Amino acid sequence: MRAITESDIRASFVNCSKGEAKRLGLPRDLDARPWDDLDFLGWRDPGSPGRAHLVAERGGRLVGVALRVTSGGGRGFTARGMCSLCLTTRTGGAVALMTARRTGEAGRQGDTVGRYLCGDLDCSLYLRGRKESVVGGDLQESLTVEEKVARLHANLDAFLAKITTSG
Ligand SMILES: [Zn+2]
Repeated sequence: MRAITESDIRASFVNCSKGEAKRLGLPRDLDARPWDDLDFLGWRDPGSPGRAHLVAERGGRLVGVALRVTSGGGRGFTARGMCSLCLTTRTGGAVALMTARRTGEAGRQGDTVGRYLCGDLDCSLYLRGRKESVVGGDLQESLTVEEKVARLHANLDAFLAKITTSG
Protein backbone atom coordinates (compact mmCIF):
# COMPACT_ATOMS: atom_id res chain seq x y z
CA MET A 1 0.00 0.00 0.00
CA ARG A 2 1.07 3.61 -0.36
CA ALA A 3 2.58 5.36 2.65
CA ILE A 4 -0.08 7.23 4.60
CA THR A 5 0.18 10.00 7.14
CA GLU A 6 -1.22 10.58 10.58
CA SER A 7 -4.00 12.79 9.23
CA ASP A 8 -4.90 10.19 6.55
CA ILE A 9 -5.16 7.61 9.30
CA ARG A 10 -7.22 9.68 11.71
CA ALA A 11 -9.65 10.66 8.93
CA SER A 12 -10.15 7.08 7.76
CA PHE A 13 -11.96 5.54 10.73
CA VAL A 14 -15.48 4.35 10.00
CA ASN A 15 -16.56 2.65 13.20
CA CYS A 16 -15.60 5.00 16.00
CA SER A 17 -16.37 8.62 16.81
CA LYS A 18 -14.27 11.46 15.43
CA GLY A 19 -13.09 12.15 18.97
CA GLU A 20 -11.94 8.56 19.40
CA ALA A 21 -10.17 8.66 16.04
CA LYS A 22 -8.39 11.83 17.12
CA ARG A 23 -7.18 10.35 20.38
CA LEU A 24 -6.18 6.85 19.37
CA GLY A 25 -2.52 5.93 19.67
CA LEU A 26 -0.66 5.69 16.38
CA PRO A 27 2.22 3.31 15.71
CA ARG A 28 5.45 4.82 17.00
CA ASP A 29 7.33 3.70 13.89
CA LEU A 30 4.84 5.06 11.37
CA ASP A 31 7.52 6.60 9.15
CA ALA A 32 9.56 3.40 9.16
CA ARG A 33 6.77 1.01 8.20
CA PRO A 34 7.67 -1.16 5.16
CA TRP A 35 4.81 0.22 3.08
CA ASP A 36 5.68 -1.64 -0.11
CA ASP A 37 5.23 -4.92 1.71
CA LEU A 38 2.04 -3.99 3.55
CA ASP A 39 -1.43 -5.01 2.40
CA PHE A 40 -2.88 -2.98 5.24
CA LEU A 41 -1.61 -1.00 8.19
CA GLY A 42 -2.40 -2.74 11.46
CA TRP A 43 -1.14 -2.00 14.96
CA ARG A 44 -1.85 -2.38 18.64
CA ASP A 45 -2.54 0.89 20.37
CA PRO A 46 0.70 1.65 22.23
CA GLY A 47 -1.17 3.37 25.05
CA SER A 48 -3.99 0.85 25.32
CA PRO A 49 -3.09 -2.81 24.70
CA GLY A 50 -6.73 -3.88 24.57
CA ARG A 51 -7.22 -1.89 21.41
CA ALA A 52 -5.98 -2.47 17.90
CA HIS A 53 -6.47 -0.59 14.65
CA LEU A 54 -6.43 -1.47 11.01
CA VAL A 55 -6.37 0.82 7.98
CA ALA A 56 -6.76 -0.55 4.45
CA GLU A 57 -7.42 0.82 0.98
CA ARG A 58 -10.79 -0.30 -0.26
CA GLY A 59 -12.47 0.87 -3.44
CA GLY A 60 -9.91 3.68 -3.81
CA ARG A 61 -10.29 5.11 -0.33
CA LEU A 62 -8.89 4.42 3.10
CA VAL A 63 -11.02 2.52 5.57
CA GLY A 64 -9.92 2.51 9.19
CA VAL A 65 -11.38 0.12 11.70
CA ALA A 66 -11.08 0.24 15.47
CA LEU A 67 -10.83 -3.20 17.09
CA ARG A 68 -11.07 -4.46 20.63
CA VAL A 69 -8.80 -7.31 21.57
CA THR A 70 -10.84 -9.74 23.61
CA SER A 71 -8.46 -12.67 24.00
CA GLY A 72 -4.95 -13.85 23.37
CA GLY A 73 -1.63 -12.48 24.39
CA GLY A 74 -1.98 -13.71 27.95
CA ARG A 75 0.82 -15.63 29.57
CA GLY A 76 0.35 -19.37 29.58
CA PHE A 77 -2.24 -19.25 26.86
CA THR A 78 -1.23 -22.17 24.68
CA ALA A 79 -4.15 -22.78 22.38
CA ARG A 80 -3.38 -22.80 18.69
CA GLY A 81 -5.14 -20.22 16.65
CA MET A 82 -5.37 -19.41 12.99
CA CYS A 83 -5.51 -15.86 11.74
CA SER A 84 -8.59 -15.36 9.58
CA LEU A 85 -6.77 -12.99 7.25
CA CYS A 86 -3.39 -14.56 6.49
CA LEU A 87 -4.27 -18.10 7.69
CA THR A 88 -1.04 -18.33 9.67
CA THR A 89 -1.42 -20.78 12.55
CA ARG A 90 0.26 -19.70 15.73
CA THR A 91 0.38 -20.78 19.34
CA GLY A 92 0.93 -19.08 22.65
CA GLY A 93 -1.90 -16.61 22.25
CA ALA A 94 -0.25 -14.94 19.26
CA VAL A 95 -3.58 -15.05 17.47
CA ALA A 96 -6.22 -12.99 19.25
CA LEU A 97 -9.95 -12.60 18.93
CA MET A 98 -10.66 -9.02 17.87
CA THR A 99 -14.03 -7.42 17.51
CA ALA A 100 -15.07 -4.40 15.48
CA ARG A 101 -18.21 -2.40 16.05
CA ARG A 102 -20.28 -2.32 12.89
CA THR A 103 -21.07 0.99 11.24
CA GLY A 104 -24.50 2.62 11.10
CA GLU A 105 -27.61 1.44 12.86
CA ALA A 106 -26.19 -2.04 13.54
CA GLY A 107 -23.28 -0.52 15.44
CA ARG A 108 -25.54 1.80 17.39
CA GLN A 109 -27.37 -1.29 18.59
CA GLY A 110 -24.10 -2.79 19.75
CA ASP A 111 -23.57 -5.21 16.88
CA THR A 112 -19.96 -6.30 16.39
CA VAL A 113 -17.99 -8.53 14.04
CA GLY A 114 -15.33 -10.77 15.57
CA ARG A 115 -12.37 -12.39 13.86
CA TYR A 116 -9.24 -14.19 14.97
CA LEU A 117 -6.29 -12.11 13.80
CA CYS A 118 -2.53 -12.10 14.26
CA GLY A 119 -2.11 -10.23 17.55
CA ASP A 120 0.45 -7.86 16.07
CA LEU A 121 -1.51 -7.45 12.82
CA ASP A 122 1.63 -8.06 10.81
CA CYS A 123 -0.08 -10.54 8.45
CA SER A 124 1.56 -8.95 5.40
CA LEU A 125 5.03 -9.58 6.81
CA TYR A 126 4.33 -13.20 7.73
CA LEU A 127 3.08 -13.95 4.24
CA ARG A 128 6.20 -12.48 2.69
CA GLY A 129 8.56 -14.25 5.09
CA ARG A 130 9.77 -10.94 6.52
CA LYS A 131 8.66 -12.02 9.95
CA GLU A 132 8.60 -15.57 11.31
CA SER A 133 5.65 -16.89 13.23
CA VAL A 134 6.71 -17.64 16.79
CA VAL A 135 6.16 -21.36 16.55
CA GLY A 136 6.60 -23.13 13.25
CA GLY A 137 2.99 -24.01 12.79
CA ASP A 138 2.39 -22.78 9.28
CA LEU A 139 0.40 -24.95 6.97
CA GLN A 140 2.55 -26.46 4.29
CA GLU A 141 0.95 -24.77 1.35
CA SER A 142 1.89 -24.81 -2.27
CA LEU A 143 0.55 -21.33 -2.91
CA THR A 144 2.90 -18.63 -4.11
CA VAL A 145 3.30 -15.43 -2.11
CA GLU A 146 1.19 -13.63 -4.73
CA GLU A 147 -1.62 -16.15 -4.26
CA LYS A 148 -1.45 -15.81 -0.50
CA VAL A 149 -1.52 -12.02 -0.78
CA ALA A 150 -4.57 -12.24 -3.07
CA ARG A 151 -6.26 -14.46 -0.51
CA LEU A 152 -5.40 -12.02 2.28
CA HIS A 153 -6.99 -9.19 0.28
CA ALA A 154 -10.14 -11.25 -0.29
CA ASN A 155 -10.39 -12.15 3.41
CA LEU A 156 -9.77 -8.55 4.45
CA ASP A 157 -12.34 -7.25 1.99
CA ALA A 158 -14.94 -9.69 3.34
CA PHE A 159 -14.17 -8.58 6.91
CA LEU A 160 -14.49 -4.88 6.02
CA ALA A 161 -17.68 -5.54 4.07
CA LYS A 162 -19.20 -7.25 7.09
CA ILE A 163 -18.34 -4.26 9.28
CA THR A 164 -19.59 -1.59 6.90
CA THR A 165 -22.59 -3.20 5.21
CA SER A 166 -25.90 -2.66 6.89
CA GLY A 167 -28.30 -5.51 7.42
ZN1 LIG B 1 -2.57 -12.78 10.19
